[in-house]
Amino acid sequence: MRTVITGGAGFVGSHLCDRFLAEGHEVLCVDNLLTGSRRNFEHLSGNPRFRFVEHNISDPVEVDGPVDAVLHFASPASPADYLAHPIPTLKVGSLGTHNALGLAKAKGARFLLASTSEVYGDPDVHPQREDYWGHVNPIGPRGCYDEAKRFAEAITMAYHRYHGVQTRIVRIFNTYGPRMRLNDGRVLPNFMSQALKGEPITIYGKGEQTRSFCYVSDLVDGIYRLLQSDHPLPVNIGNPSEITVAQLAQEIIDLVEGTASRVVYVDLPEDDPKRRKPDITKAQTLLGWNPTVERADGLRRTLEYFRTVL
Ligand code: NAD
Ligand code: UDP
Repeated sequence: MRTVITGGAGFVGSHLCDRFLAEGHEVLCVDNLLTGSRRNFEHLSGNPRFRFVEHNISDPVEVDGPVDAVLHFASPASPADYLAHPIPTLKVGSLGTHNALGLAKAKGARFLLASTSEVYGDPDVHPQREDYWGHVNPIGPRGCYDEAKRFAEAITMAYHRYHGVQTRIVRIFNTYGPRMRLNDGRVLPNFMSQALKGEPITIYGKGEQTRSFCYVSDLVDGIYRLLQSDHPLPVNIGNPSEITVAQLAQEIIDLVEGTASRVVYVDLPEDDPKRRKPDITKAQTLLGWNPTVERADGLRRTLEYFRTVL
């Protein structure tokens, strides 16, 4: 099996490279290093089944030889990153997805799209099921990411219906773990880096908004199972254990024993979703998937990683 992973130098993509190599695949990682890093795959440099190609997937792509699967994970994912790069984000969700689908079609390969819980926007249905169409502000600051991913889902379904490409769509909820960038601006790296450095912990708004955090190995396992399945419609993968941002701050303060950090409250960003929690009934029944890593354990492992980075 030969698998192309776009965004393979990023947080989730690099864990996918590891998993597919462990399953015996050849892996071709295509990444332009916009938000990813060579450090995330340097441990694979001696592996003859791994190859890195520096390329912007929003430009046409050519790959020699057979390809069995294309996993399209290229895209900034942290709000701070996509606010800094709104046009590359729109391009990689649209042109990049088109190019990755074209590659899958030309090679007769299976295609899997990394979509997101952000397609539900600031949801007025809770928890979010896959048949909910969402509540997205197309012209707000987050619109560049949300609408790019909604377009990506639409073109993926069109390639499935019109061209008969074997496609899969995973709607990923907040995921964390080693290889997140310490300064990517997402809540978990922010809080951990602040706690480790004894700096103020920046809660946006009152911290009453909720998220549900999934450890990366659980996500990767769900993606692997979804790719093997024959289900073309979107499937949520996330951990339904929901907490407020203020509770997360407290858990991290408790974990980093002896930290001098205290919380401070700053402005809530525009259109910040108030509640987010996946309904994972579909993943449970269709894929036999359940998250297995408790937050206490996942947070400990992630903190160990950030300590080594610092
Ligand atoms: P990340 O920023 O760590 O990784 C994204 C990777 O894509 C980086 O290596 C970056 O350099 C690469 N990239 C960006 N634009 C590119 C382009 N035009 N051409 C080639 N490579 C490009 O982010 P992540 O958290 O690993 O997210 C990976 C994917 O999963 C994204 O598609 C994201 O939307 C999706 N996702 C992630 C989460 C999460 O919680 N981590 C949640 C929902 C969806
Ligand atoms: N957040 C926060 N402090 C930070 C970073 C984020 O309170 O330093 C909040 C943010 O407002 C959001 C939640 O944490 O409500 C998750 O933010 P993140 O950027 O990780 O991802 P999102 O789920 O919003 O895409």
